[in-house]
Amino acid sequence: MEKLIKDYQVQLAEPGCKPGSGRFGALATTPNDISPVFPYLNAVWPNARYDHDNKVLIWEERGQVYAFRPREIRLANVENFEQASQVVADIVERINDIWQGRGDIVPRYAERKMPSVLDIYKLLPKTNCRQCGYATCMAFAADLRKCAVRPEQCPPLMQAENAGNREKIMGLVAGE
Ligand code: SF4
Repeated sequence: MEKLIKDYQVQLAEPGCKPGSGRFGALATTPNDISPVFPYLNAVWPNARYDHDNKVLIWEERGQVYAFRPREIRLANVENFEQASQVVADIVERINDIWQGRGDIVPRYAERKMPSVLDIYKLLPKTNCRQCGYATCMAFAADLRKCAVRPEQCPPLMQAENAGNREKIMGLVAGE
């Protein structure tokens, strides 16, 4: 049976405007629309967040968050291009396996949407300290919602006094 994703391109982007942070976001783009597989991924990955109308699916496994849109797959917090390429290759293979086996899967259209940017922003320190490389906490929240960055990239959020909000944000992003 034909693969859904036969071709894609991977590129790295430094989060925010902080060159030299050593962590990157990765974006894999596909020439074709991969959203037909989303209801099957939503069925196989019960912890996924799925917005059927907007064709967005967010999924986390072992600390790696994946954000799928019709022609893209995003990852946050990768070290280099080689690591990003390997993670993308692995997830593409899994998606193709699920697509090829979809005859045995009941697609699931039930939605669990991502929190709003404001929901995430409210839990950030809101100091606009720029340690994450972004000019504002709101800008960081917007990219966190897109899974272009990870909560760990906000150093103040990692401090003990923010443990409660950190857990809430981790839960929101992971879809708990
Ligand atoms: S590091 Fe955290 S507190 Fe500072 S600007 Fe970024 S999101 Fe806001």
